[in-house]
Amino acid sequence: MIGANIEKIRQQLPGHVKLIAVSKTKPIELLREAYTAGQRAFGENKVQEMVAKQPLLPADTEWHLIGHLQRNKVKYIAPFVHLIHAVDSMSLLDTIQKEAAKNNRIIPVLLQVYIAKEESKFGLDEVELLQLLHSVTGQSHPNVSIQGLMGIATNTSDNTIIEREFTGLKNTFEQIRNHIQNYPALNAATFTILSMGMSNDFHTAINCGSNMIRVGSLIFGERQYIVHTE
Ligand SMILES: *Cc1c(COP(=O)(O)O)cnc(C)c1O
Repeated sequence: MIGANIEKIRQQLPGHVKLIAVSKTKPIELLREAYTAGQRAFGENKVQEMVAKQPLLPADTEWHLIGHLQRNKVKYIAPFVHLIHAVDSMSLLDTIQKEAAKNNRIIPVLLQVYIAKEESKFGLDEVELLQLLHSVTGQSHPNVSIQGLMGIATNTSDNTIIEREFTGLKNTFEQIRNHIQNYPALNAATFTILSMGMSNDFHTAINCGSNMIRVGSLIFGERQYIVHTE
């Protein structure tokens, strides 16, 4: 069932688009099923959950942290995380630098840019993004590799809004790439990832230039959140 879902999505993806299977809230058995079907990249949005699941899948599994990350939790994922998608401040980048150095590794990250009209309180606006990119250097952050941008579109059925937001992020991404020499920490060989698109909007995202999509419910089914009652 999960294998078939993954296969169906894969058949719709151009070769340059990478699929992240978003497994947040889902039990490890379902991740194993996806792994058996050949899926290697998994996305989680909670540090505790990722840390609990990581030892239960084979070592070649890629763990992508896709949600907001608190600085005091970076140390738990620093030894193994494959890509942090949602870096949105210099202070978080500083902490990732420190924890990556302690683990003697270079941690790849994406900068989250705020593109939606509403919702998400997280992400940099364009001015903050460029400020941050001007201030990071290879000397200040030798253990961090900034590999691209990530965005979440407005949750709407109006495709023209989604298209406008994704196209805006794609343009920002290309502008940075076209002036890559202005940004001391970046280089064209590694600043290559544009992470946008989820279950409901990944086709639009790919048409707008995405090369990494984060898909949960289309693979694993709808998520059920536990409602706490007194
Ligand atoms: C949950 C989540 C997804 C996947 O959402 P689906 O609609 O289930 O595909 C993608 N990206 C982020 C940042 C998420 O939190």
